[in-house]
Amino acid sequence: MVEEVCAALVAAEPELTMMDQAVGDGDLGISLARGAEAVRREFPGYGEDPAAVLRALSATLRRALGGTSGPLYAVLLLRAAAVLEEAGGVPAARDWARALAEGARAVSELGGAEVGDRTMLDALVPAADALRQALDGGAEPCGALSAAVEAARKGTAATAAMTPRRGRSSYLGERAVGRVDPGAEAVAIWLEVVSRTVCEGN
Ligand code: ADP
Ligand code: MG
Repeated sequence: MVEEVCAALVAAEPELTMMDQAVGDGDLGISLARGAEAVRREFPGYGEDPAAVLRALSATLRRALGGTSGPLYAVLLLRAAAVLEEAGGVPAARDWARALAEGARAVSELGGAEVGDRTMLDALVPAADALRQALDGGAEPCGALSAAVEAARKGTAATAAMTPRRGRSSYLGERAVGRVDPGAEAVAIWLEVVSRTVCEGN
């Protein structure tokens, strides 16, 4: 799954670059591709424990990603790792859902943005909510993740109508309206790969 996510982010570099050029400084595609390459290099040393893998991913991305996304992804993964550690044992689907929700909360705490501010949180938070709701409703992991991807896609599309209040896009103000937030799009891209990989394993 990690390999597939890295491949998808490398492939998305041109698209994310164009999107960030329109509403930011154009570095998001390169940053995420660089992060993905670093993960590919360091992944063999991560071990097998899911929480330890998330912790190691956080450390790699904190060093390699850069930009605003670097510290935000680092804190997301670190908090998610802490949730899995607390749960103990082999994480169940609900533990992963809580890890995603708490990770999104950590992003909000660090960056000060909320849903509706036109950031990656507009994909992350609805996805985490949908994942938990689907699991609460008895869905299998594949179905729950598919619902999460749908929510992330909807949230990402909705950013096009939002006035940016955080990050570089906020300098553009109303002029960013009509374009999708690149950080939210990136979330939708990697979450879709996670979902596809889990569904293929079924
Ligand atoms: P920058 O080049 O502005 O340092 P990146 O290019 O790494 O940032 O990432 C841009 C993306 O980061 C935005 O599209 C947005 O989704 C996200 N982002 C920016 N600021 C915040 C924030 N305070 N909280 C959450 N996400 C943010
Ligand atoms: Mg940027």
